[in-house]
Amino acid sequence: MINRRQTRQIQIGTVAIGGDAPISVQSMTNTDTSDVAATVHQIHQLERAGCELIRVAVPDMVAARALAAIREQIAIPLIADIHFDSRLAVAAMEHGAQAIRINPGNLGGPEKLARVVTAAKRHGVPIRVGVNSGSISKDLLKQYGYPSPERPDALIESALGNVRLLEQQGFCDIKISIKSSDVLTTIAGYRQLAQQTDYPLHLGVTEAGGLIAGTVKSSVALGILLFEGIGDTFRISLTRDPVEEIRVGFELLRSLRIRQRGPELISCPTCGRTKIDLFTLAEKVEQHLQAMQSNLKVAVMGCVVNGPGEAREADIGIAGGHGVGIIFKKGEIFRKVPEAELLPVFLAELEKLEAEHNSRTSR
Ligand code: SF4
Repeated sequence: MINRRQTRQIQIGTVAIGGDAPISVQSMTNTDTSDVAATVHQIHQLERAGCELIRVAVPDMVAARALAAIREQIAIPLIADIHFDSRLAVAAMEHGAQAIRINPGNLGGPEKLARVVTAAKRHGVPIRVGVNSGSISKDLLKQYGYPSPERPDALIESALGNVRLLEQQGFCDIKISIKSSDVLTTIAGYRQLAQQTDYPLHLGVTEAGGLIAGTVKSSVALGILLFEGIGDTFRISLTRDPVEEIRVGFELLRSLRIRQRGPELISCPTCGRTKIDLFTLAEKVEQHLQAMQSNLKVAVMGCVVNGPGEAREADIGIAGGHGVGIIFKKGEIFRKVPEAELLPVFLAELEKLEAEHNSRTSR
């Protein structure tokens, strides 16, 4: 049982972060933000995958002005990611950003920060104080050393120092992230930060890597923290299509039984007993499930040794045989089907269950 840490709640557009709000899954576009069509297209793909908040890079004024047209065409809250330039932060908010991510200490001094805070108050825009291991001041590094699992203090002090800059201007509509590319430093840092503040926390391992390395690193770090009740929203960073970040994010929440989105697929790794092309079958079923909303449990198993058990436990399942597959529905054998017809027959039955589920939930 996970006991979630008590945090304040902030509101980004329609999405609440912290408090008792669901832990939200977010991503960042990798298009040129000033290319409105490409950015909107990618955000639509992310929305379909379940993305709940989207961040876009705002490196220049053209990108800041593009936010208005982007926001008009998307359904999820739009967050602007800004470094160094306070004018970009103000312009982003004027053009519709519903939250901004900044590092208040690197905006060029108190006057420039004050202009950003004034705009944030006027537009009702929360600020994420986002600190990375690479952006910590020399003074803090000298005092605490480079962040490590044993001593992540520089990250925490940097974040809290930036938070104080905002608080001094009477601004508390804040969430915090402290990102490291090291898993153990990430865990140690957020644990320590969680003891020192009740602002909501945005989790992430930065520069985590490609699909496999990034998924493993993010899942270990975020899995441990979420299991301990730490974290109110997160991004899985992958050197990949950001849609994969959302898929990994929801699988992570599902594995901890925090949230579920779409059906769950159970499939076996195959072994010498497998006599059908299970890899292709499982991959096609998995692709099909991505567009589904129900919480069905779906099993794709290679043989009649362990297969029937899992297939019976699932809402719908396959146990492979010699060139055939046995389809189970709700624990009962439904049909034995030749391998060549297995996928279409199975998907048709799956769709029927999905339709039943949707009609029950829409009543
Ligand atoms: S379900 Fe059957 S085919 Fe799959 S790994 Fe287990 S024993 Fe092997």
